[in-house]
Amino acid sequence: MANSERSARIDAALDEAKRAFAAARPKTEAMQARAAAVMPGGNTRTVLFSAPFPVRVEKAEGSRLTDIDGHSYLDLLGEYSAGIYGHSHRRIMAAARDALAMGLNFGAQHGEEVKLAETVTRRFALDLVRFTNSGTEANMMALAAARCFTGRRRIMPLRGGYHGGTLYFSHGASPVNAPFDCVLGLFNDIDATQLLIAGHADDLAAVILEPMLGGGGCISASPEFLAMLRQETAARGIVLIFDEVMTSRLHPGGLAAKTGIEPDLKTLGKYVGGGMSFGAFGGKRAIMELFDPTRPDALPHAGTFNNNTLTMTVGQVAMTEVFTPDACVELNERGDRLRSALNELFMRYQVKMRATGQGSMIAIHPTAGDIARPEDLDATDKRLRQLLFLDLLADGIYMAERGFMALSLMVTDEDCARVVSAVEAHITARRDLLV
Ligand code: PLP
Repeated sequence: MANSERSARIDAALDEAKRAFAAARPKTEAMQARAAAVMPGGNTRTVLFSAPFPVRVEKAEGSRLTDIDGHSYLDLLGEYSAGIYGHSHRRIMAAARDALAMGLNFGAQHGEEVKLAETVTRRFALDLVRFTNSGTEANMMALAAARCFTGRRRIMPLRGGYHGGTLYFSHGASPVNAPFDCVLGLFNDIDATQLLIAGHADDLAAVILEPMLGGGGCISASPEFLAMLRQETAARGIVLIFDEVMTSRLHPGGLAAKTGIEPDLKTLGKYVGGGMSFGAFGGKRAIMELFDPTRPDALPHAGTFNNNTLTMTVGQVAMTEVFTPDACVELNERGDRLRSALNELFMRYQVKMRATGQGSMIAIHPTAGDIARPEDLDATDKRLRQLLFLDLLADGIYMAERGFMALSLMVTDEDCARVVSAVEAHITARRDLLV
């Protein structure tokens, strides 16, 4: 098929899928119009927007979501990796009720923050930790700590990295980013990045990266790339920060433990608070103790809700009783099986699709060939991602429009088999567009 004909057929298929989506959701469409009158585009979190308008959920239970038009979906998005416990987990609900009974905001220190700090430092090998309200805030604080510790100004994120709403480096720096002086490294490009580090070493405070890109397409950093970063930063007095806001779920001790490369600081977020707003930064004592308020030169670190009892109590129960090291291993094995099954399917049908990631985090890409760097995804056709997303929704499966999924503990092997069947149905229906 000629490229122009194929492109026209993708447009037609997508238009039809959008029409069918809208026709089946009159209440959602009406609510979208109402939302758009008071929020830009009817949206208060950009990533949740999808065309023609997003699903609007009424309730959630276990691994299922129900929208306001009464459609039910298997939740494969898992709140972009934060929803690891599924919905309304009984032990989490009980912990939340305990926190409510204890009182929410004391304006004072309490025991629950100590317990969670003990759990988190032990599990993720941190000397000291500080809590925040989000992953974005954790990264902002980790970068600030690195700049104060080194007395240097500049930071090095990597192209394709996402560290929060104000730290977004998908294709260079986003216009709404915090005004850090940045030099962008290149993910998995050892020579180019090594050269950049050497060239900017005098004024480089920190190198920050996700050891596997999450939002950037579930692309793992190679062991050689990580080893180079560790070696270069250590030799030049630069703070190495692993953003493990997503990836800490991939191994009982986080991805750093799995790779065997220990950064100076790590940041955490998402699921660690048991589903409540959460962030944390921590690591080497020499850096973190700059925040010790008993020091005359202590750095300030504020945040009204940093130690709110809801997050601290629920997070402690979630991390010690629900997402135990054994549960973590089992969940990631299930994800590995699902990714393999998807890739086998793509091979069998000889379609240009690939599933990347590790363990319970998976991304499906409409492309053939190796995906080792973010640049390998530059030429993918966004319309094919949308088509898969809408086809799976029509089949009762919810994931991110960009092809991202993060399994929760409530997703079963049977659910995964259903996902494989639904993707197979998409392939057989759209095969001419995917070869
Ligand atoms: N870092 C990574 C790797 C993330 O994926 C995210 C959120 O998706 C963040 C940081 C920001 O976390 P939050 O949304 O809690 O601010």
